[in-house]
Amino acid sequence: MEDCIFCKIIKGEIPANKVYEDEEVLAFHDINPAAPIHILVIPKKHISMLTDLKEEDERLIGKIYTTINKIAEKEGFKEAGYRVIANCGKDSGQEVMHIHFHILGGKVLGDKIVG
Ligand code: AMP
Ligand code: ZN
Repeated sequence: MEDCIFCKIIKGEIPANKVYEDEEVLAFHDINPAAPIHILVIPKKHISMLTDLKEEDERLIGKIYTTINKIAEKEGFKEAGYRVIANCGKDSGQEVMHIHFHILGGKVLGDKIVG
């Protein structure tokens, strides 16, 4: 989709520090990390919000989670653990309107999910 920053990253029009890529999924380091490990995992298919997901996307969303496992293994934080967050809509503070899954880790994150 035009004017979508993550679609531009997928097309190579904006650089990103990639950690994983296949035909359906891309992962790259967040430009403004909130933790020592902060990776964004996105589907290459443009879906604006989690509320736009359709039944046909169920396999793709499952694949995102198995891809997160692969990234955790490859990047060496599988044992230590991590947190996955996906924002949806205004109250969540979603800024980029292309669904994305934040992987946060590299330190003890504490017991608060909401900061
Ligand atoms: P959210 O608030 O869930 O929409 O998160 C959007 C995330 O995208 C933020 O953590 C930003 O730091 C990150 N971000 C925005 N632009 C870029 C970019 N060009 N490369 C990497 N991360 C980005
Ligand atoms: Zn997009």
